[in-house]
Amino acid sequence: MDKIKMTTPLVEMDGDEMTRILWQMIKDELLIPFIDLKTEYYDLGLVHRDETNDQVTVDSALATKKYGVAVKCATITPNAARVEEYNLKSMYKSPNGTIRALLDGTVFRAPIVVKGIEPTVKTWKKPITIARHAYGDVYKASEMKIPAAGKAEIVYTDENGNETRELIHTFDGPGIVQGMHNLNGSIEAFAKSCFNYALETKQDLWFSTKDTISKKYDHTFKDIFQELFDAEYKEKFDEAGIEYFYTLIDDAVARVIRSEGGYIWACKNYDGDVMSDMVATAFGSLAMMTSVLVAPDGTTEYEAAHGTVQRHYYKHLKGEETSTNSVATIFAWTGALRKRGVLDGIDALVDFANKLEEATIETIENGTMTKDLALITTLENANAVNSQDFIKAIRETLEQKLA
Ligand code: NAP
Ligand code: MG
Repeated sequence: MDKIKMTTPLVEMDGDEMTRILWQMIKDELLIPFIDLKTEYYDLGLVHRDETNDQVTVDSALATKKYGVAVKCATITPNAARVEEYNLKSMYKSPNGTIRALLDGTVFRAPIVVKGIEPTVKTWKKPITIARHAYGDVYKASEMKIPAAGKAEIVYTDENGNETRELIHTFDGPGIVQGMHNLNGSIEAFAKSCFNYALETKQDLWFSTKDTISKKYDHTFKDIFQELFDAEYKEKFDEAGIEYFYTLIDDAVARVIRSEGGYIWACKNYDGDVMSDMVATAFGSLAMMTSVLVAPDGTTEYEAAHGTVQRHYYKHLKGEETSTNSVATIFAWTGALRKRGVLDGIDALVDFANKLEEATIETIENGTMTKDLALITTLENANAVNSQDFIKAIRETLEQKLA
């Protein structure tokens, strides 16, 4: 069989620990035998980030802007313990944060649904994708403890020194205050990424805030989404046969639980933080969650939602067997390859990505899976295998499909 040819390179961001081991296995077993894999390689492993003073992370984000599509392995976000473990020159920022800031993107997280791993919520049949706004609100707030009676106000001073004031509260004893902000530009970029992603994946888009209570702050989110939708997206949504639907956050929560799934739920920063963990857990496993960063200009970076699985890596280093789930990392690759195939008009690449996803799901549904899934599956004769054998089993299923 001839290998599938690629025309534009994929930006490949390698990472750390157990996921770095899986990364290589996936390439060797599931990609290179079938594709003339063309990537521009960036080593975001912590050792190389340290050698380059983290310049490699910035370079990989700039390459993503240039080529349009990237695939990223999980990476360590250094803390004090990592600075010591790797003898780092500095406690570098989170690579995901650096990349997100440069691409100004929105993160979409979606579960990979397979038979035998049943959602806790019985009505859920299709994935629910959470789109979380990644800027501002309580994550960039100023806070103050009020020690005793007094008046707290919000003050805005324009460039000419004119002040506008709004009373927060007249305290007659101790209390607390918080001041937070957002930017119209950031909300617009968020809205654009959501509308574009809905069109690309042909799913309805839900958006929820608390605009009845927050008549200026949350209402601005609602208005920006609606204005942009009416001006630029309404016709495209009609053509695609999908809907944009706004509702209050508490109504959205109730509807989500009663729904079948199969839509994107856009959330403000805090709501998205909380709801994505709720949705991920209720779908069964963090190891079955994909994550994709989409910039307003369409630039896309695919990854797994989980971390570097440190505990398994230390077992691996001791020569012990691991059973680490590679599904989310495989789906990061298939997402990126499919996108590259669509952009470059290479049908064979799109078809390969689809078949590799099908092969992965079928392998699990036929009973071969990693330990994390074997523990929660409703399948009766589940067979828990090690990291390597799971990938080899997927390769067998894939070869049958391609034959
Ligand atoms: P983690 O890598 O997500 O793993 C936490 C635990 O979840 C594991 O010990 C394992 O449980 C289970 N798990 C996660 N992914 C799994 C998989 N694919 N297969 C099987 N089990 C899986 O989180 P962590 O160990 O707390 O973090 C390790 C490093 O990851 C940290 O340095 C952090 O900075 C980094 N991180 C990176 C990203 C990213 O790059 N996107 C995201 C989050 C964290 P058991 O041990 O019970 O088997
Ligand atoms: Mg969180």
